[in-house]
Amino acid sequence: MILVKEYRVEYAHRLPDHGGKCKNIHGHSGIVKVAFEGVVQEESGMVADFGHFSWLEELINNLDHSLLLKQDDPIVEVLANFGFRILLLSFPPTAEVLTQYLITNIQHLMVAQDIKGLKLQYVEFVETPGNAVCNFVEGS
Ligand SMILES: [Zn+2]
Repeated sequence: MILVKEYRVEYAHRLPDHGGKCKNIHGHSGIVKVAFEGVVQEESGMVADFGHFSWLEELINNLDHSLLLKQDDPIVEVLANFGFRILLLSFPPTAEVLTQYLITNIQHLMVAQDIKGLKLQYVEFVETPGNAVCNFVEGS
């Protein structure tokens, strides 16, 4: 059975090398869906308690109301002095690459937090209504 956690993320970003309007700082009301495979436990009737994902919510919250920028973006130097919530990334902050960022970090957290009985299946990132990417974990 697949269990899906869904979060809304308000964020801003820009793609400095984009030839069009995405080179400007702009915002999205994104939706992140994180899917896990697991077995329904006989005693609880659940794959996992939906309320026991604080370890994941912390990671997702880092994106919320943040400005996502590639670390070598020249505007980082200017904005860093204003105390904005900026998340610097080693890649262009596209929906596609953000799913890989989330998969890598979720996998690390699952090991660190000793999460058992769940296998990460995919991360879906809905950037705008009608535009989404879904990144399946290899071997899932
Ligand atoms: Zn955008």
